[in-house]
Amino acid sequence: MKEPYYTSSTCRLCQSEKLERAVSLGLSPVSEKYVNRDELGEPGVMVPLDLYFCSNCSHVQLVDVVEPEYLWSDYTFRTGDNPALIEHFSDYASRVHTFANLNETDLIIDVGSNDGTLLKSWQRKGFRNVLGVDPAIDIGAEANAAGVETLIGFLNQAIAEKILEQHGRAKLITANNVYAHCDDLIGMTQAIRSVLDPDGLFTFEASYLLDIVEKDLIGTIFHEHLSYHSVISLQSYFLRQDM
Ligand SMILES: [Zn+2]
Repeated sequence: MKEPYYTSSTCRLCQSEKLERAVSLGLSPVSEKYVNRDELGEPGVMVPLDLYFCSNCSHVQLVDVVEPEYLWSDYTFRTGDNPALIEHFSDYASRVHTFANLNETDLIIDVGSNDGTLLKSWQRKGFRNVLGVDPAIDIGAEANAAGVETLIGFLNQAIAEKILEQHGRAKLITANNVYAHCDDLIGMTQAIRSVLDPDGLFTFEASYLLDIVEKDLIGTIFHEHLSYHSVISLQSYFLRQDM
C-alpha cells in the first residue's frame, strides 16, 4: 500500500524553504483513524511527527502531511457528542455576535462545520441563512438532515465559486480548528477571502503556540494539527493575503 502521507518542503504560510526541525516526536500512528476488527493484527500506518520552525516567518508546523482524503473522509469525531463543545460554540457565537455587525438575513459560513453544532447556535439566535462546508461525508449528511445546509468537500476556489453563485457573499466566516488542519492554507484563505463580503468578518480558533510552549501541551501535537499558530507569523501572513 502506498504510504498515506507526503512531505512538504516549504512553509505553509510563506512558502520559504528555510525550515528547521525544532521538535522530533519520531514515528507515530495516525490518531482518530480507527481500524475494523479484521484489521487488528495488521501493522498500522506510522507517520513522522516532527515540528518544524520557519526561520523566515516563524511559523511552527508539521511538514509530513497525512493525505486529507485518508484522514477526513470517514472521520468519526462529532462536535455534538461533546457537551463541553456544544456549550463552547454557543458561547463563541454569543461573543462573536457582540462585535460582528450582523443582520439576521446575513449569510454565515462555517468552514469545517462538522455536524453543524456552531451553526445551530446561530440558528437559535435567529440567523437562518447559514451554510457549512465539511469533507466528512456521513457527518455532513447528518448536518443536512438536521437542517444545517452543508456542502461536502474542502473549501477551495471551486466550492467558493459555487457558494458565490448560489448564496452570495458571507458577512461572517468562521473556521475553527480547521485552520490548524488545512495543508493548503493559502488556497483556503484565498477561497475565504473571495466569499467574504468586503465588510465581513473572518474568525478562527486553533491551539495557540505560546500556550503549547508555556503549558507543555504536548498532547495537542498530532497529525491532524498541521499548524501551531502564533500572532507573529499570522500577522505577516494575513497582510500577504490582503486580509
Ligand atoms: Zn514561513
